[in-house]
Amino acid sequence: MAEFVQIPPTSVVLKLIPTETLTPDNSSTAILESAHDAVIAHLLDGTVTFWNPAAERMFGYGATEAVGGSIRRIIPPELLAEEDFLLARIVRGESLPDFRTICVGKDGHQVSVSLTVSPIRNAQGTICGASRIARDVTTRTHTDAVLAAIVASSDDAIVSKTLDGIITSWSAGAERMFGYTAAEAIGRSVRMIIPPERQAEEDYVLGQIRRGEKVDHFETERVTKDGRRLNISLTVSPMRNEAGTIIGASKIARDITERKQWEHEREVALQRMAQAVASRDEFIATAAHELRNPLNVLTLLWRVLDHNNALAGTPQGNLVEKARVQLARLTSLVDRLLDITRIRAGAFELYREEFELGELIREVANRFVIESPKIPIIVEADVAIVGHWDRLRVDQVVTNLLSNAIKYGEGKPISVAISCEADTAVVVVSDQGKGIAPDNLGRIFDRFERVDSATDEIDKKSHEGLGLGLWITRRIVEAHGGTIFAESEVGRGSRFVVRLPHKSA
Ligand code: ADP
Repeated sequence: MAEFVQIPPTSVVLKLIPTETLTPDNSSTAILESAHDAVIAHLLDGTVTFWNPAAERMFGYGATEAVGGSIRRIIPPELLAEEDFLLARIVRGESLPDFRTICVGKDGHQVSVSLTVSPIRNAQGTICGASRIARDVTTRTHTDAVLAAIVASSDDAIVSKTLDGIITSWSAGAERMFGYTAAEAIGRSVRMIIPPERQAEEDYVLGQIRRGEKVDHFETERVTKDGRRLNISLTVSPMRNEAGTIIGASKIARDITERKQWEHEREVALQRMAQAVASRDEFIATAAHELRNPLNVLTLLWRVLDHNNALAGTPQGNLVEKARVQLARLTSLVDRLLDITRIRAGAFELYREEFELGELIREVANRFVIESPKIPIIVEADVAIVGHWDRLRVDQVVTNLLSNAIKYGEGKPISVAISCEADTAVVVVSDQGKGIAPDNLGRIFDRFERVDSATDEIDKKSHEGLGLGLWITRRIVEAHGGTIFAESEVGRGSRFVVRLPHKSA
């Protein structure tokens, strides 16, 4: 004890010492007094010889109480063995820098500390005691514990590595995902989970990290311990020390194998669907084409049969007329099928010629009046509109709208209004039938879409059709640079508005 250079045990407050009286001795005492860290000195038998104010605050013992007592009073019973080991090292002249341990305060509360223990030598250089500098890291420890719990419970693999790619931490999620335990992985290169053909990725990732840049949601493949390939999404961020220097990288890997598998299955299903649609279209095209030939022959034969209208008024004549109506219907259905094939194949061309729109519309309306004389069709034109359109196709548009108006118009009068707005011809075909329910208005222009009219299923049951007419009609109108839309109020009929830009000759 006599040999020991004792550090004053009592509190000396720096501010009471005038500046001019500062000496190396009282300066160091003052520093110790004002330090945030607990500074303690004790003999080799554990008797405390110095206890600064921070130690008082941290452990609850006043300096007078602590000095002369044993350092063991702040060591939890379960760590006393560690204390013996620590003293043995001090006796050998070894320092223990900055290790985490737990101390216990006067009222029994535990304090997590980062502790540095160093030997103290007397004037002769003999080790006679130890100094302890303890920093309270309870808050940090708590935050660390929360973070550790989050990392441990995450299904993602959370890994840290040095700038050389050496693994320094390996979460439970990483163990589950890649099959290596933390003990197996830590200290090894992260390249062990990178497939041979993707090794260059690690150079790229480390390059980014060294430049302080993050690698975000990088989709790649990794290999598990048992050789399975995983699809993963990687996010790698630089890790810095307190001075801000990049010292490594943290990476979060999410297993997206299932998502990739699902995406692949979806892709395959979409391809199959596209193939099925293509096969269906091809079938329709072939069938329509094959049907058109015998229909042409039948039409010719019918003309021969009805040569000079010789059978008119006879029972055979009536049968021949019925056959003509059915033949015309069949021909029109097959023509629609051929049309969709042409439109889909992009082989839909317009043969423009100059004509007056009102004149064509009257011609079409007359055909209907001859076929269905009981249904009045009123055509009203403000002005004569001459334009360059495909006559046959515009005929098809008007024919389709009028035949629908007759089909769904419940036998009531139909009107066609023709007007001109700037350089656009506007044709409005109106009927007074049951109309179209608002929900269906947007669908009727789709392919094979046959909707229930306003109230019941009459359309599907009592009117034949393929649900193609309006689809083809819209394509024709759009090919002319125009638009078509429908308006309807249930029970008050429908209005189809066609707008066709007219080009002057
Ligand atoms: P479809 O060959 O079935 O007539 P369209 O494409 O011409 O095919 O018409 C699609 C559907 O739109 C029809 O099935 C019908 O339900 C509805 N529709 C078309 N025009 C009218 C109309 N003037 N009044 C009521 N419903 C109509």
